[in-house]
Amino acid sequence: MSVRVRFAPSPTGPLHIGGVRTALYNYLFARKNGGKMLLRIEDTDQNRYVPGAENYILEALKWVGIEIDEGQGIGGPHAPYRQSERKEMYRTYAEQLIAAGKAYYAFDTAEEIEAMRKRLEEAGADAAQYNAITRLQMTNSLTLSAEEVQQRIDNGDPYVVRIKIDPKQDIRFKDIVREWVAVHASTLDDKVLLKSDGMPTYHLANIVDDHLMGITHVIRGEEWLPSAPLHVLMYQYFGWTAPQFAHLPLLLKPEGNGKLSKRDADLGGFPIFPLQWQDPTTETIARGFREDGYLQETIVNFLAFLGWNPGTEQELFTMDEL
Ligand code: GLU
Repeated sequence: MSVRVRFAPSPTGPLHIGGVRTALYNYLFARKNGGKMLLRIEDTDQNRYVPGAENYILEALKWVGIEIDEGQGIGGPHAPYRQSERKEMYRTYAEQLIAAGKAYYAFDTAEEIEAMRKRLEEAGADAAQYNAITRLQMTNSLTLSAEEVQQRIDNGDPYVVRIKIDPKQDIRFKDIVREWVAVHASTLDDKVLLKSDGMPTYHLANIVDDHLMGITHVIRGEEWLPSAPLHVLMYQYFGWTAPQFAHLPLLLKPEGNGKLSKRDADLGGFPIFPLQWQDPTTETIARGFREDGYLQETIVNFLAFLGWNPGTEQELFTMDEL
């Protein structure tokens, strides 16, 4: 089986140093195994989309020396995949799950959902909220007749598609870093897969794309570990083989109190690609780094040496050596 990995950033701002590290691990893993590295821009969240971010990501990766093998976005075989260009396709997969009884239409208003949350809060519930019990009290295709559902859709009433989690299932998978992870499905919400604007959520688009793109290893930051049980379940519901997961420990703030985030750049903390953000080209990015005193080799080696030691005295590696 040939290795296929992907770096899948959301274009919500400049590339974070933690993102560069994730990209670097994916890239090195692909190179070591003679595999392929894909770039996929996860731009389905219109509210968080920042114009220019995609270009910045592309140029920053180039500057670091990470080459992308494959994409099929507008602009040719090496343009990244963009989820916004694949929007219609995700809907067919959501419909496939509905037809199989593993997802459903939900027409609830924000007020209804809020009222349900309040009821649960007052009852002291701390588990999943839109779940096997509560979904039967809500306005969705499990509680409405087929005619009512059709009528609402024909009326243009807003709806989302939710996954129908079977709470009796145990979810187990082996993470390459964490070893066995086990979770009761009863702790998971019936997460939204398709939003009312017709866009897929991260979960749906991510799973469908990883499957269609033949991804063998999902290497990503540990902040996604809580989503992985849902993803494993979705692979089962679709009848697909899940890729192998490797959730990498995160870069923490210098005080060790929490994960480094894009916001920390403003606090004068760790350098987080703060750079010539208005006009990102390989040249302006390189200049920004030089002015800040960072060289490409040092960034790459710094990131590679976090949590890893070659067991020799060698302190500086070229990308090929890595
Ligand atoms: N779009 C997600 C992010 O911005 C990707 C997470 C994943 O790799 O599955 O980090």
